[in-house]
Amino acid sequence: MKNIPHQVEYGQSVINFSLQFSDRKTVAISVHPDCQVIVAAPNEADLSKVQELVHKRARWIQKQQQYFQQFLPRTPAKSYVSGETHLYLGRQYRIKLVTADKPSFKLSGGHLIIHHSNPSLSSNVEGILYSWYRERAEQKFRERFKLCLSKFPSKPSIVMPEEQELHIRKMKSRWGSYAPSGRLTLNLELIKAPIECIDYVIAHELCHAIYPHHGPKFYRLLETVMPDYSTRKAKLELVLS
Ligand SMILES: [Zn+2]
Repeated sequence: MKNIPHQVEYGQSVINFSLQFSDRKTVAISVHPDCQVIVAAPNEADLSKVQELVHKRARWIQKQQQYFQQFLPRTPAKSYVSGETHLYLGRQYRIKLVTADKPSFKLSGGHLIIHHSNPSLSSNVEGILYSWYRERAEQKFRERFKLCLSKFPSKPSIVMPEEQELHIRKMKSRWGSYAPSGRLTLNLELIKAPIECIDYVIAHELCHAIYPHHGPKFYRLLETVMPDYSTRKAKLELVLS
């Protein structure tokens, strides 16, 4: 039986599902222990009707997925040893540790070369790596922020606050936030994501400067600024999950 991948948007999230057509009378939705959603539909079923049904059951699907999620192996915590890979702008780089008097950092040919007097202590390596991440984030995020801001249409209904502050910090459960005062905060971890995903988070948060809530107007503006935002969002979820 052929599995056809599909997706349905539900609030801020996307529900991916595999569609199987067969000689049956009704549509059945099931969530497997690996969190995959399988939809079995009659051969003559209309795709838009199936999507509507998946959307209707979205809450239930997410509940099932959350339940199964707790049994799935988590991405192992990083141990900051030679050979281990770490992300930067969506690409994997391998750590190479060198014992040296002076601590230093270099990105070279797919390697993150880290010098430290005691590189066997993971916190030393983590410290050097993260201060480099922060340095890169300060530069990249600011550059992308300016670019995203320039994409906003200049209409009387869309007036961006004159003062926009960009803050970068480690956040536990979100990629970014926007405060009405004009303060945009980005998660430092975003420096691990591809540029197009960083841009998506910035564009999303900047739309909050005009519309605080995720209503239809908010999404219309986001689509104007970034027509392919949902693809970028899905990619971000895939890369940094
Ligand atoms: Zn938002």
